[in-house]
Amino acid sequence: MPTYSYSCAPCGTFALVRPMAASTDPAPCPQCGEVAIRVFGSPALAAVEPGLRRALDASARSADTPHVVSSVPGRSARATPITRDPRHARLPRP
Ligand SMILES: [Zn+2]
Repeated sequence: MPTYSYSCAPCGTFALVRPMAASTDPAPCPQCGEVAIRVFGSPALAAVEPGLRRALDASARSADTPHVVSSVPGRSARATPITRDPRHARLPRP
């Protein structure tokens, strides 16, 4: 079952483990018994593997400003060897 955070005005925040179906139900404060409101926190991103985090960050950075490349990454500028056959000189050029 997931853990939900609730906030009581006089007492502060507390966590409650309850079924997902009961997540929106009013939660009584364990100290004063008042109805507490649910608060939303950040997910546990520290548990993400560093390599995956770097990939996700790079993906988020390039979402609106993609990185522009002028050649295929990892290949040299002249991947195809130059031919020395004289018959190839008569072929049409682009
Ligand atoms: Zn309270």
